[in-house]
Amino acid sequence: MLSRKELQRYSRQIMLPQVGEEGQEKLAAARVMIVGLGGLGSPVALYLAAAGIGELHLVDGDQVDISNLQRQILYKTNHRDKSKAQVAAQQLTAANPEIRVHAHPCMAEESWLRDQVPEVDLVLDCTDNLEIRHAINRVCREVQRPVVMASVLGFSGQLISFDFSSQQSPCYACLFPPGQQREVQNCSTAGVIGPALGVIGSMQALEGIKILLGLPVASRGKLHLFEAETLELRALQLQGNNGCPVCGHE
Ligand SMILES: [Zn+2]
Repeated sequence: MLSRKELQRYSRQIMLPQVGEEGQEKLAAARVMIVGLGGLGSPVALYLAAAGIGELHLVDGDQVDISNLQRQILYKTNHRDKSKAQVAAQQLTAANPEIRVHAHPCMAEESWLRDQVPEVDLVLDCTDNLEIRHAINRVCREVQRPVVMASVLGFSGQLISFDFSSQQSPCYACLFPPGQQREVQNCSTAGVIGPALGVIGSMQALEGIKILLGLPVASRGKLHLFEAETLELRALQLQGNNGCPVCGHE
């Protein structure tokens, strides 16, 4: 049952037929892990906290650097050198004291993920670390947790989600086999335009909320590519890869 305070706070989404009181109760009961609290994790975490996701787990081992502030909208200048996970938790609790927020100021190592991911209902991969992304893919598939993955570099963004409750689901390694990618650039070496992270991060939060509500999820097994220069958005259906080392898809 939602309290009077909750009914008031979430009234503008509860009035939507896609949400309703039943949907809001689902969001309040949900436990979500956000890995990476940078340019994508910032809008993702802010929207999920505001929407009333009951329990958020924030995972990031980094500290705030002045060069982050151009795009990582959770942080202010006076947060420099502080733990991103801890500052993010404070900011989200201030935005919505009705939810529980847990800070995990650590790297998302595979063994850590294996312990923690079974305790949540959904994972949002907002990291720009390829090794961690592959670890998230393996662990989520193993424990059958849905995941929404996104990344942005320069003016280009991509987004895809996987529903591992189905054995038929392809996985991230079908798309990008581990070890086959050449030295990948990231935001600190190649640069990134801030608002493109806002666009993709907002889409990532949207897909996460749809998964929790049980609504159709457009990005499931479908790679969405966004070009900020032209505003073009394309979607490519992902086929399972026979030789995938993670899911060995037939
Ligand atoms: Zn696969």
